[in-house]
Formats: sequence, C-alpha cells, structure tokens
Amino acid sequence: MAEATLEPAAEAPVAEAPVDETPAAEPAEEPAAVDAAPEPAPEPAAPASQQKDDGEAPPAQASPKQAPTQAAPAPAPKYTAPLEVITDAEAMRAWSRAHRAAGRRVGLVPTMGYLHDGHLSLVNAALERADAIVVSIYVNPAQFAANEDFGTYPRDSEGDLAKLRALGVHAVFQPKALYRGGAPHGHDEGGASSMGGGEIEENQKIENQSSSSPPSEPPHETFVTVEETQKGFCSRTRPHFFRGVATVVCKLFNICEPDVAVFGKKDYQQWRLVRRMARDLDFAVDVAGVPLAREPDGLAMSSRNVRLTPTHRAAAVRISEVILLVKEVCELALINGTPKESRHMKGMIKEAIQNSGGIVDYVDIVEQRSLVPVWKGGVIPNVPQVILVAAKYGDVRLLDNVELFGEAD
Ligand code: AMP
Repeated sequence: MAEATLEPAAEAPVAEAPVDETPAAEPAEEPAAVDAAPEPAPEPAAPASQQKDDGEAPPAQASPKQAPTQAAPAPAPKYTAPLEVITDAEAMRAWSRAHRAAGRRVGLVPTMGYLHDGHLSLVNAALERADAIVVSIYVNPAQFAANEDFGTYPRDSEGDLAKLRALGVHAVFQPKALYRGGAPHGHDEGGASSMGGGEIEENQKIENQSSSSPPSEPPHETFVTVEETQKGFCSRTRPHFFRGVATVVCKLFNICEPDVAVFGKKDYQQWRLVRRMARDLDFAVDVAGVPLAREPDGLAMSSRNVRLTPTHRAAAVRISEVILLVKEVCELALINGTPKESRHMKGMIKEAIQNSGGIVDYVDIVEQRSLVPVWKGGVIPNVPQVILVAAKYGDVRLLDNVELFGEAD
C-alpha cells in the first residue's frame, strides 16, 4: 500500500486523487434523539462483578507514579452519577443497555490506562458527544508481541480513577482478562491461562489439551484484520499490532455497545484503521478523532514518555520541532513555491531526529484517508496530507504526526 506512489508528470506535479477513493466512514445513524437533560432513570441493579469506585481495582503492577497533569477545561457532564468500576463483560453490556433504554447516548473511550492529558482530551470530547461515558482501561495482550513491553507497560489504576472521577465519567470498564482460553502471544493476564491466539505453538496446543483439571477453555482464535490500512508504518516493526488493535476494539464495541467511540489522532494509523473497520463491518458506532495533545515543549503526550531518560526526554522534543517546522514551510512556502522543493522534507525530518540521538523507524508523508503518498517525491499543496513519524530514543518508541493542508474527514 505505502509503496503505491504516484509520480507527477515532469516537474510540475498535479495533485492526483488518492489511490483509495473510498470515503471515510460516515457517522453511523444516530440513535433516537436524547432529551437535552434526560431524567435520571432508575439505575440497573449492579451485579456482583460491577463495583462502585471504592471497590477493588485490579492489581496495579509496580510502576513509576505519574507526574500530575493538568486537564483541559472539561465540559460539564450531561448526566451525573458516581463513577462505577465494572470488570465483567456482561455487566458492562447491561450498564450500556440500561443507559440506552433510558434515552442516553453512550460514549466509549478505549485506553490502556496510565492516563495523561491526551487521554483526558478524549474524555472531554466524549462528554460533548454523549451522555453516559465509559472509559475502558485494558492493556491488550493481543497487540504486544511476546518480546514487547506488555508486562512492564505503566499502570496506575488509582490515579486513573481519580482523574476520571474528577471529570464526571460514569463508568470505567476494567476487565482483568478479555480473551477466553488465554491471552494471545503467551501473555499472562492476571492469572488467566496465557495460551491461545492464532500463533499458538503446536506443542503449547498439546500441553493445553492435556493439562490437568479443570480442562482449560479452547484458545481464542478469532482475529480481525483491516487488510490495507494496517499495512506499512507501525506494521513494519510490529506486524502483529493492528490485528490486535482491531480485534480488541471489536470486542469493546460488542461489549460496551457505544453510540460514539473516541480515539486520538496521536495514533493516526490506528484511528484510520478503526474508522475503516467500523464502516466495513457495519458497526453502528460513530468513531470520532481528537487532535494530538502535546506537552508544553511540544513532545506528543504518551504513557511511555515516563520511560525516557532525562537526556532522551530533552532530545525527543526535536521530533515535534522539526515536523511542525516542515508543516509551516509546506503550508506557507509551497502555496507559491513548487512541490519540487518539498522533496527534501522527509530527509530533513530524518536528519533532525538522527542528529538529536533518535533512531528513525519511519518518516512518511501521506494522504490522510488512504495513507498513501500523494507524490512520493514530497508534498502536494492543498491536498490534506499527514506527516507520520516513529522514532526510538533509547528503548522507548515514540509516535508523532502533523496534518498538512487541513483535515480530511
Ligand atoms: P493508549 O492508552 O495509548 O492506548 O491510548 C488510548 C487512546 O488515547 C488512543 O485513542 C490514543 O490515540 C489516545 N491518545 C494517546 N495519547 C494521545 C495524545 N497525546 N493526544 C491525543 N490522543 C492520545
């Protein structure tokens, strides 16, 4: 996909239509209109697996505590109720159905926790778009290969709940495990058998079948792939990643049954992929995208930033500096300049990152919906494109991006 580039004719390229002409997912049909201020309906009885926020949270792994973050001014919730922590899928579905039956629009914000202001901007967007808001906190084993940081992914359950409570979020869906029969890639989900997945080894299968009582459930074997959008970029180094993301988002949509789900454009390819999946599989979910939130010095906010050494933290700011500079150059200079001048943009970005001590994974400039370069030589004026970057500082892999020439649907 990413290789399907269009060469402009001679030296004066004309903006070609993106290869993928398919329109972005249209918002799903709205559910029945909701009163501006719906009467609080009787709450569904809370099953045993559904706890109020003073209930027991899943064990948090040892992690550095988060620096306090300043939430953006939050819209007032349209409906107020104490935060509920729900750990069971059936209870989650019942919660959502009860709210929808009461005429409330349900908004879902999927996260892996260790929340920062970027996540909270998604919550605020959900509060604007829906009445009853559920934030899922689940570190999804299916998107981590066996050698990746699933076990050490930062966690701070208490801190997360405090932040969400302060914003007026209504529920947190915090399952201990979501894959029956064991987590994919051999990860251990808090005591659940860690077998299963499409990549289960033959000897593991045998072990699973012959294990002593009680016999384990058959492994999870159903996965979702978004054939084209998942190609390239993050897939080059993490080939398993988007299958894991698409699968868990499908599961969360089926469990939480939201009217609207909010994702961050920080993970740009992921956001496009989820929209495409929702459209292709006819989910009645409006998938909204929220702009990337940055630290005051420009670094894209990420749960993994806490792992940067002070030296790498200072150096990593170069990513945002250079891509924001290139955006300015392209949008101002290119209007009256020639696209030929933009040939050097990708090289400039790579060099700046490398000179700051980063290892570039990829730098690409692509059309926003198809994720295909409009012109492999550089940037075409007035066509919505996005600069996508992934780079490592030490062992921390960072993503960043910036949209050029507006924002496609
Ligand atoms: P994560 O917990 O990293 O899986 O992220 C959960 C959601 O938050 C995803 O939709 C991310 O794209 C979004 N997100 C994470 N960081 C940011 C950020 N800096 N700005 C906007 N959205 C973000």
